[in-house]
Amino acid sequence: MEELNQQQKIRLNKALSERESTLREEIRREVIAQDDYVQLASEVPDPGDQSFANLSVDLGNAAVTRDINELRAVELARKRMQSGTYGECAACGYPIPFERLQAMPTAERCAPCQENYERTHHEGHRGATM
Ligand SMILES: [Zn+2]
Repeated sequence: MEELNQQQKIRLNKALSERESTLREEIRREVIAQDDYVQLASEVPDPGDQSFANLSVDLGNAAVTRDINELRAVELARKRMQSGTYGECAACGYPIPFERLQAMPTAERCAPCQENYERTHHEGHRGATM
């Protein structure tokens, strides 16, 4: 398996940042749509605030929870991109195929390791990203 080349990294980085903007916008809309928006408003920082993903996931809204979990995954992926570990499987250390990353830019494991992980962690009460 080959490691990602620079062009592939640039493409994936772009996909990640686009996904991040979409998610932030979605979360904002979903949170605003909730009845208890007033109560939540003080907890929602401005777009671009790095702590946005730290917003409590216990909002009782499945869509928001899912989006926040994905936003966390995106931010983790971008951190890996910065530190140069992006595209390495977190479990076996081998490069994750570009096709897999293209389909799922937040992937942190290769397909076999992810399957194995999901088998051993069931639903994963810490969310899908860890
Ligand atoms: Zn692996």
